[in-house]
Amino acid sequence: QSTIERIAAGEVVERPASVVKELVENSLDADASRVRIAVERGGKDGVRVTDDGIGMGESAVETAVEKHTTSKIGDIEDLEAGVESLGFRGEALAAIGAVSRLTIRTKARGADRGTELTMVGGEIESIAPAGCPVGTTVEVDDLFYNVPARRKYLKQDQTEFGHVSRVATGYALSNPDRSLTLTHDDTEVFSTTGQGNLESTVLAVYGREVAEAMIPLDGDLDAEGPLDAIDGVVSHPETTRASPQQCTVFVNGRYVRASAVRDAIVDAYGGQLATDRYPFAVVFLSVPSNTVDVNVHPRKQEIRFADEETVRDQVETTVENALLEAGL
Ligand code: ADP
Ligand code: MG
Repeated sequence: QSTIERIAAGEVVERPASVVKELVENSLDADASRVRIAVERGGKDGVRVTDDGIGMGESAVETAVEKHTTSKIGDIEDLEAGVESLGFRGEALAAIGAVSRLTIRTKARGADRGTELTMVGGEIESIAPAGCPVGTTVEVDDLFYNVPARRKYLKQDQTEFGHVSRVATGYALSNPDRSLTLTHDDTEVFSTTGQGNLESTVLAVYGREVAEAMIPLDGDLDAEGPLDAIDGVVSHPETTRASPQQCTVFVNGRYVRASAVRDAIVDAYGGQLATDRYPFAVVFLSVPSNTVDVNVHPRKQEIRFADEETVRDQVETTVENALLEAGL
């Protein structure tokens, strides 16, 4: 099966948010301290990620857009050990380039000039020296312009932007030591300083009202089970939204979908939440990696715990106690 066939089947790139996820991960992997994400029309017209990371030399840029190339040998070993699901395993840029107009401008640290590469529908159009700062900018325009069936399936700008925003928020919250900025149609949505802790990052991302309503988990596990540690913040029961998407869960540092954990957080509030309202939560769980399965599907990111019931109990009890402690 060709890359484009797999993409057409939605297996590789699903929507603008999947592009954002891959580009931001690459920037973080490249040791960037500052990552700027700018999208247009929910990312359907353009996604641009700029970083101040290690950059790439001219030959590295060319290799980067080839299929199944990765400079991350450690990742491959992780993959074989079954520890991490790595999504595209060295094919993200190639896959994205196959269904868009892709431009990479990059300069390696210490190099005296940079390189610009353009790719259209998977073919390299040009590669030439370029003046640019150290780091990398990847621009993905007109996603799925050559796969009309997928283009049609994309939702309205605001819906696509919601997905993008959730991904960007997840990386911002889990990387308080890096500055992440998100811009939509030239309006800045949030910008973190990269010098903060979880609290100041929550403030930057969600604003003062939410930040002031946050209650810290004390870090002690209040029930026996597979979890080694739990950390984070949850909101006052009156600071909620109608959608569950502001419950952000990380397992072993990785942003995941974990409906079991989200349900446990909600249950911890007992009857204190209004119907169909969800708290804000940013929760970090540590578990032995042999008790989780993140490989259900690399794109979906839904995580499974070997002993889900007990994990739920541990999360629920810990959140319950934090609320009690706060007098709720
Ligand atoms: P993977 O991340 O799995 O290695 P990708 O297709 O996402 O595969 O990227 C291919 C390669 O391109 C990376 O291994 C890395 O060497 C290089 N690369 C991609 N993005 C960046 C970036 N922002 N800064 C530096 N190098 C990058
Ligand atoms: Mg990658």
